[in-house]
Amino acid sequence: MAYLASPTRTMAVLERHGLRAQKKYGQNFLIDGHVLDHICDGARIGKNDLVLEIGPGIGTMTQYLAERAGKVIAVEIDDKLIPVLSDTLSEYDNVTVLHQDILKTDIRALYEKEGAALHFKVVANLPYYITTPIIMELLEQKLPIESITVMVQTEVAERMQAVPGTKDYGALSLAVQYYTKPEVIAEVPPTCFIPRPNVGSSVIRLTRYTDPPVVAKDEKKMFAVIRASFNQRRKTLINGLAGGGVAEKESVRQALLQMGLPEDIRGERLSVEQFARLAELI
Ligand code: SAM
Repeated sequence: MAYLASPTRTMAVLERHGLRAQKKYGQNFLIDGHVLDHICDGARIGKNDLVLEIGPGIGTMTQYLAERAGKVIAVEIDDKLIPVLSDTLSEYDNVTVLHQDILKTDIRALYEKEGAALHFKVVANLPYYITTPIIMELLEQKLPIESITVMVQTEVAERMQAVPGTKDYGALSLAVQYYTKPEVIAEVPPTCFIPRPNVGSSVIRLTRYTDPPVVAKDEKKMFAVIRASFNQRRKTLINGLAGGGVAEKESVRQALLQMGLPEDIRGERLSVEQFARLAELI
């Protein structure tokens, strides 16, 4: 089977199986081999790696991953694509395709079954309609993932990298930056996909910290504080946290005083380190 990464080969596979890209599953198939090489280089895939691919589509990226990795597990929700994948990936004996919703998949069990001896990485051209829940799931489950290299909407990549005090800064920025070091490794125009998405795309690599710069004593509590602050973005931190039922006003006021922060500060001004400290104090 030739590489699928071209417009004509992608169209031919879809036509042969009588399929069209499904919008409801966020299907935008990559058709550019340079982009795929760049993603695999950026993810630093090697034979000692177990790669989880989320949404293999017709198998375009899976072919590249299978050639470089020790093992690939590809989780695809669309039943119509399963026979396509057994056709396009038939030459690779190191690929397992699972017909599942990634948000209902026990990823830890997969890792333990398939490759606990291997380094675990996630690589994907993500379905954009569920980017945030997928990323939050991968981060918060504390899976033994070394890095997550994913194609996302450019706007989402910007949110992941945003710094305090900017309009893009929010709960996603804090979760990503608490657990990982985010780096954009490519900008990808709509012309690299069939069909073309109506937004710009970026490839971002999130490398999990082995030695995190900030460690919260109680992570659950810190993320509850973060969520409450950004749910009530326009309110001061004191009112946001009290309104969200996370803490009494007086307790937040005392904590801010101790931290040398003004009483009327909003959550969007606090760094991850300050959120960790605040959660300890209230
Ligand atoms: N990897 C292919 C490529 O690069 O050409 C396809 C990428 S396409 C943007 C997203 C893929 O994710 C589609 O194949 C879609 O069916 C699949 N998908 C959507 N929702 C999913 C879910 N909840 N679980 C697993 N796969 C999903």
